[in-house]
Amino acid sequence: MSVQYTREVDVLVLGGGIGGLQAAVDLADRDLHVLVVERDTSIGGRMIALSKVFPTLDCASCITTPKMAEAAHHDMIDILTYTELESVERADGSFRCQLRRKPRFVDEKDCIGCRLCEYACPILLPNEFEGGEGARKAIYIPHSNAYPQCALLDIDNCIYCGQCIKACPTDAVHFAQEAEEIEVRAGAVVLATGYELTPMEPVRRYGAGKLPNVISPLLMERLIAPHGPYGKVLRPSDGKIPDSIAYVQCAGSRDASMGVPYCSRVCCMYAIKQAILVSGALPLVDVTIYYMDIRAFGKGFETFYQEAKAMGIQFVCGKVASISEDAEHNPIIRVERKEEGGEVCEDTHDLVVLSQGMVPAWKPADKVAVSENSYGFIEVPEEKIAPTATKLDGVFVAGTAAGPKDIVDTIVEAGAAAAQASAYLESSGWLQKTAAKRSYRTPEAASTEVG
Ligand SMILES: Cc1cc2nc3c(=O)[nH]c(=O)nc-3n(C[C@H](O)[C@H](O)[C@H](O)COP(=O)(O)OP(=O)(O)OC[C@H]3O[C@@H](n4cnc5c(N)ncnc54)[C@H](O)[C@@H]3O)c2cc1C
Repeated sequence: MSVQYTREVDVLVLGGGIGGLQAAVDLADRDLHVLVVERDTSIGGRMIALSKVFPTLDCASCITTPKMAEAAHHDMIDILTYTELESVERADGSFRCQLRRKPRFVDEKDCIGCRLCEYACPILLPNEFEGGEGARKAIYIPHSNAYPQCALLDIDNCIYCGQCIKACPTDAVHFAQEAEEIEVRAGAVVLATGYELTPMEPVRRYGAGKLPNVISPLLMERLIAPHGPYGKVLRPSDGKIPDSIAYVQCAGSRDASMGVPYCSRVCCMYAIKQAILVSGALPLVDVTIYYMDIRAFGKGFETFYQEAKAMGIQFVCGKVASISEDAEHNPIIRVERKEEGGEVCEDTHDLVVLSQGMVPAWKPADKVAVSENSYGFIEVPEEKIAPTATKLDGVFVAGTAAGPKDIVDTIVEAGAAAAQASAYLESSGWLQKTAAKRSYRTPEAASTEVG
């Protein structure tokens, strides 16, 4: 039988990406008690898997991990990973949220992150964190920067050999662990559920999911990361170091036929960033970016673009029509080159990266009755005067959950969501109502087991 807990917090933040973590830290610094609920096995969101960030080329994990640690060690922040929001109800001026914490089959309190279970496990599986490249075990710590540094047993692929149980020095592995139901009463909610890449598989003309050397930009982030699956860029079909790499821009953005008519704002810059990084890692590689127009709108972005051109990265203006492959799995790009009077050309490359756009990770099934805009992102009705307030009083949105944006804009918006949420707690009377408890409450004391 699952265990039930009730706890009370000032703000529930849904999503532990950079947006959710920034909002949580800003709220906690105002002495508000925050619960971060993350459905994945670790906090950090997409950013923790990036190699470096445009336009400064700072190491992404060197920026994300301090923010993760700040949230994880903050007295006023609790974090629940591997936890889903089941429902939210408005009751007595607060939000009653039902959560379901999935079983890791490893006790988070007892696991010391030593990885002895992982070394003992005989099962090898594709590593999801590395975009399916490299391998992980059936019991594993999701990645070296994961928080919590707690193992997770992939029960569907476990052969119950018991090697992990024997290897664990703290008896933390429990095959019988069950899901926990947790009820949380919160004064306000911040939605920071982030984005997913535009799904390309239904659009066969670019060969995603069919041609092995046509890959997603997130996989390319892992391939160019120094701590990625191979420590170098190898193409998936045969492990060859590519001599020629192409980027196809607006693959799943500004294309009504793919259901995404809007610009995803970050694809031009992340393609240029990756092109610069890969040119540095493979000095002899030819990199070509096929684009409709380059949108370099942010601080330092135009200089970054010009630097890429000066480095010899080729920019070909033209919308790619389709991608096929030859007998050696080399992708062949069919494109109408605008600069050559609209001539239709076929260019062969070793590896193609689709610069996929952003679609909301938020699904109507996520069960908070906020409205969505016509593209499915969480709607902000009064964007100019209340940039993070949703249609639902007391529910705020931060980061890419509200629309495509880069890390800087996500962090700025998360700060705004924290400010608006704390002002709401004041105006709604929540702070006054909970003042007595606040004077003695610590995060631990606020959580009471009821069943
Ligand atoms: C290939 C690529 C490269 C990029 N490179 C850069 C770069 O160099 N510089 C830059 O500025 N930007 C870059 N970006 C954009 C950057 O990734 C985003 O701006 C940033 O990650 C947005 O953070 P977020 O917190 O809004 O969303 P996310 O990082 O998506 O985090 C959202 C979190 O919410 C969780 N979540 C979702 N739904 C639920 C739910 N129902 N319940 C609980 N948790 C949930 C998710 O698991 C995730 O952890 C890049 C994007 C891509 C695709």
